[in-house]
Amino acid sequence: MIDLFWHDDALRHDTGSGLFEQPPSPLLAEQELHPENAVRIRNMKAVLERGPLAERIRRREGRHATVAELELVHDPAYVESIRRFCRDGGGIVTWSTPVGEGSWDAALAAAGTTLAACEAVLGGETDVAYALVRPPGHHAQPAQADGYCLFSNVALAAECARRSGVDRVAILDWDVHHGNGTQECFYDRDDVLTVSLHMRHGAWSDAHPQTGAPDEVGRGVGEGFNVNVELPPGTGDGGYLRAFEQVVAPVVGAFGPSLILVACGQDANQFDPNGRQCVSMEGFRRLGEATRALAAEHSGGRTVLAQEGGYARSYSAYCLHATLAGVLGVEPGLDDPCAYLPDDPGHADAAIASVQEALRPYWSL
Ligand SMILES: [Zn+2]
Repeated sequence: MIDLFWHDDALRHDTGSGLFEQPPSPLLAEQELHPENAVRIRNMKAVLERGPLAERIRRREGRHATVAELELVHDPAYVESIRRFCRDGGGIVTWSTPVGEGSWDAALAAAGTTLAACEAVLGGETDVAYALVRPPGHHAQPAQADGYCLFSNVALAAECARRSGVDRVAILDWDVHHGNGTQECFYDRDDVLTVSLHMRHGAWSDAHPQTGAPDEVGRGVGEGFNVNVELPPGTGDGGYLRAFEQVVAPVVGAFGPSLILVACGQDANQFDPNGRQCVSMEGFRRLGEATRALAAEHSGGRTVLAQEGGYARSYSAYCLHATLAGVLGVEPGLDDPCAYLPDDPGHADAAIASVQEALRPYWSL
């Protein structure tokens, strides 16, 4: 059984439309919704409620975070600036990240609902909880909005778990983009292991430089506790699984987390407008299954997942369903409507070898 945490305020974050992330183009007959839109998570919720996993999913109500909770990882002046900007009507906070008046409540709900999911697992109400939230969080830094993200939902959950007595927390991030915000929150700490599997895409703006190289391993006592696996464009199911088996599983296993958090994006899917990877439903199912095995071995099964990216509006929902089937250890019961690309399991071998090289001083790989 998975507890699915949801708050309706997720739908109040209006990111508008245009030419992808740009202003409306007079050349187009129909504008695109901004990639991070409410449709995507309405579809995710619908597939989970209507699909074969429905009877294994228990619907739970999310909540708002308090400002004091946001300030556990975010600068108070930054939190207040976001509140005021939204309340004043919104606009573009930073490159590619628009907000409206309802975005403040949505951001509070995203953070608070992720915290509620974490509290349910720590309180023994369930072993596995999923926070289906937006805006996403893993690019948000302590004092900087970035890449559609305002507050770092998963980092807040990790910090709350630590403060409630959990001694070691591992964060796995398989969103296709580097979890730069989460990395910054814990870069000099050895009590929260941060692992990101992502694509190298180059800098997208001053607010979003390319980060996530294998040699960004952490600082001070945190050295070795930040793991970046940069996968080349075109990596599919086999490449992701090799990275998981050859880097993620051994490092997380040696770390021995008492709780596993997953920054769960689906934008590594083969049809995502914001990624160039080739993961299919089966690949996501196997990532879920591998996480289930790690949690069973190390954290007593305790796993909290939170929604990050995933911008193919229909396929992302199917990929989330497949992920949760893997986490539950059951067959998805849904055919992949789109899997037809060939897969090369060795596509990322050179990249995996370079990560292993960077990590060898700290972990046995
Ligand atoms: Zn992403």
